Amino acid sequence: MKFFLLLAAGALVAGCTVPMTIQTVPEPSSDTEMAPPVPKKHTAHRKGLDPELRRAVQQATRAAAADGIQMKVTSGWRSKAHQRRLLDEAVARYGSLEEALRFVSTPDNSAHVTGDAVDIGPTEADVWLEQHGATWGLCRMFANEMWHFELATTPGGTCPEMLPDSSYRNR
Ligand SMILES: [Zn+2]
Repeated sequence: MKFFLLLAAGALVAGCTVPMTIQTVPEPSSDTEMAPPVPKKHTAHRKGLDPELRRAVQQATRAAAADGIQMKVTSGWRSKAHQRRLLDEAVARYGSLEEALRFVSTPDNSAHVTGDAVDIGPTEADVWLEQHGATWGLCRMFANEMWHFELATTPGGTCPEMLPDSSYRNR
């Protein structure tokens, strides 16, 4: 039975892709070269994180799951080059460096570059973590970024007051 299903699936795939790939004919080798970096890229943002922050996020993620909330790190550690790209994109989007800096920090100022910040999603996880994160020292830092968390208090402590946006940190 399994064999027949595989055959059927193979026939379907072949039937679907043959007409579409006639013009492009992708090289099989380029496919296999493209495949491995995906999981690497996926874990890099966690590997560069401060170990204490990573542990706190892991514990919070488990507690959230027990409450029925799926918590995901959408962005963690970033290279300076990546942060620079994000800032360039924000300048293009918002029209000025000053406005862009309200949403994206410079490579030298970003807590993501030093491995001291995580962005969390989806929204219900952000809401949950803002309520419970201090248990592990995790605090929402900026009024305009509900997804951005850092270790900013001792476990069980009180989070500092939020800044209006990340540009206030360096004023
Ligand atoms: Zn962030």
